[in-house]
Amino acid sequence: MAKGVYIKTFGCQMNVYDSARMTDVLAPLGFTAVDTAKDAELVILNTCHIRVKAAEKVYSELGTIRRLKAAKAKSGGRMIVAVAGCTAQAEGAEVIERAPFVDLVFGPQSYHRLPELIARVLRADGTAVLDTSFPTEPKFDFLPTAAAPRGFAAFLTVQEGCDKFCSFCVVPYTRGAEYSRPVAQILAEARGLVRDGVREITLLGQNVNAYHGEGPDGREWRLGKLIRHLAEIPGLDRIRYTTSHPRDVDDEQVAAHRDVPQLMPFLHLPVQSGSDRVLAAMNRHHTVADYRRIVDRLRCARADLALSTDLIVGHPGESEEDHRATLGLVNEVRFAQAFSFKYSPRPGTPAASGASQVHDDAKSRRLGELQQLLANHHREFNEACVGRTLPVLLQKPGRHLGQLAGRSPYLQSVHVAAVAARLGEIVPAVITAATANSLSGSLAETAAE
Ligand code: SAM
Ligand code: SF4
Repeated sequence: MAKGVYIKTFGCQMNVYDSARMTDVLAPLGFTAVDTAKDAELVILNTCHIRVKAAEKVYSELGTIRRLKAAKAKSGGRMIVAVAGCTAQAEGAEVIERAPFVDLVFGPQSYHRLPELIARVLRADGTAVLDTSFPTEPKFDFLPTAAAPRGFAAFLTVQEGCDKFCSFCVVPYTRGAEYSRPVAQILAEARGLVRDGVREITLLGQNVNAYHGEGPDGREWRLGKLIRHLAEIPGLDRIRYTTSHPRDVDDEQVAAHRDVPQLMPFLHLPVQSGSDRVLAAMNRHHTVADYRRIVDRLRCARADLALSTDLIVGHPGESEEDHRATLGLVNEVRFAQAFSFKYSPRPGTPAASGASQVHDDAKSRRLGELQQLLANHHREFNEACVGRTLPVLLQKPGRHLGQLAGRSPYLQSVHVAAVAARLGEIVPAVITAATANSLSGSLAETAAE
């Protein structure tokens, strides 16, 4: 009998990819994805631990799941509740202590073992099953092919984990050591996605440009070379990748932006701070001048490259002067998109125990100032597109009837008046309006009539 699995995904795109892969692993066990937890025999919360708020969200969601599980039991049914992902990895047994109705806790590196873990839950006498090991076997070697089509744009993880140990970050502890998948495995997965209708693939990695997978020639391939080979897959019209680290930008990556038309002119390159003092305290191993040089090289290779970044305000020791330096760099680079955060102390990371923590009031004010500036730049970038014709991959229904939503080459969300039959097409759209967050347009062929 078909059983329902409901997976709620928190956090980053890697978690979105992992959730889809969990569905693939569960398909042979008879599980199909359902849209609500109450209809599910298996509920998985795929969690994030990057900031304190992300972890708190998991426990608040567990409160709702507890009530649904109790209601299901009352009507004679059974719901298995699992907590996966980075909070599961970081907090392990603590999850079960705080939420004793949870049946299964597993980390991001062990979900290929889901069939065995679920069998253990079914055999257990109510005792929760915990697997937060870092298996020696890479999970990717055990994942089946996609059980269901992924739409027109899909993620593909090529690299995982991190050995960089930035002062503020939990990722090296939750995702483990850096690992690059072999080229042949990635090409096979990409071909499968394209066969199923995918036209755009975003390559994922915590440090995607640290990619150094084994090529078919037995040598180590870097990201630029991988992108060139992916671009040879017929039907793969768009390639993106995220997240890059400034330290790992190399000539091959820059040259790919110059030479590969399928590689979209957009790059997410977190800088975190515009102050060398703070960058050193963050253990980032690059300076502001290094970042500027990288941006110049990239913009020389691809003049219309849109840049995106991550910024943290209020890292321990950040002074007003450091904050001003960040605003200065932001004004100089003018990011098309950016994510900015208040520093959030994470247990076990060096910065959390650092002296000179910044007061929350100062963090809030600095974040407000930074976000105001960033929003101005996002709006300017988007407004500069009004009147232009941009190719838009139509991916899903829009907010309003008769509208479809898609992405421009610069990753802007674009709403276009078009019928559902056009879904999956890359259409020329005349951009007619812009906000800080999105664009609206009409099909160029309609506009010309
Ligand atoms: N690997 C990427 C890099 O090095 O740029 C970033 C990965 S992390 C999942 C995404 C972003 O979350 C980081 O770039 C950083 O800006 C933010 N972040 C990480 N830890 C944080 C913390 N403790 N407090 C606030 N923001 C944090
Ligand atoms: Fe975290 Fe730094 Fe690694 Fe990025 S490079 S995942 S911010 S430790």
